[in-house]
Amino acid sequence: MSVRVTFVGTGDAFGAGGRFQTCLLIDAPGIRFAVDFGATSLVALNKLGIEHNTIDAIILTHLHGDHCGGIPFLLTDAMLGAKRDRPLTIAGPRQTEAKLQAVNEALFPGMNVMKPKYILDYIEMEVMQPNSVCGLTVTPYPAAHTGGTNPTSLRIEVAGKVIAYSGDSDWTKHMPNVSREADLFICECYFHGRNVPFHLNYPTLKEHWHEIAAKRVILTHMSREMLPHTDAVPEECAHDGLVVEI
Ligand SMILES: [Zn+2]
Ligand SMILES: [Zn+2]
Repeated sequence: MSVRVTFVGTGDAFGAGGRFQTCLLIDAPGIRFAVDFGATSLVALNKLGIEHNTIDAIILTHLHGDHCGGIPFLLTDAMLGAKRDRPLTIAGPRQTEAKLQAVNEALFPGMNVMKPKYILDYIEMEVMQPNSVCGLTVTPYPAAHTGGTNPTSLRIEVAGKVIAYSGDSDWTKHMPNVSREADLFICECYFHGRNVPFHLNYPTLKEHWHEIAAKRVILTHMSREMLPHTDAVPEECAHDGLVVEI
């Protein structure tokens, strides 16, 4: 069975190259889900003509705004303009529900008096264990990123395929397991010419390239320093709107 991955947003936190923040949309038989949902992701989905009401689940790697900051906008529109009636599951690391509710209240004060007319579920996933999310099997691994964001790398089993994603993270001892035999490993490549902390950068990636045993690797989350190199490097680089079938 084929699984389709749409790279809705492939930029960094700061809009480098006019790109949208991180969001992947995955279509598989019986489910459509997103991985990460940055502050600009609702705009990015609208630009691609994709209704957010069609998303069954959102799975978060960590609690930085460029990976989860779009959720308050989605939840507010779901109750007002979009009038969602289909259930939504939001899965992420520990503290996902409390942090998102705090962001919601900060951005849309008073909205918490409105209760959704659809079923909204939060799942805070255990690391190093398979978690069941709407029929998917999601295994988060500890990531080397800002500690307060509860950072993880994800390995997602869907319709007999494996999609792995580094999230924002420096290289960790877990990356070979995250990416092993994955049909697609989506990997951060933040800077090209130097290693900045808490992120995967091109020099580190090349050093560990032989430890990545995925069937296909696509680089993403590129800074303004990395973007000019995307055509020159031999590795496949994502762009906003890229669609891949695995
Ligand atoms: Zn981050
Ligand atoms: Zn990020």
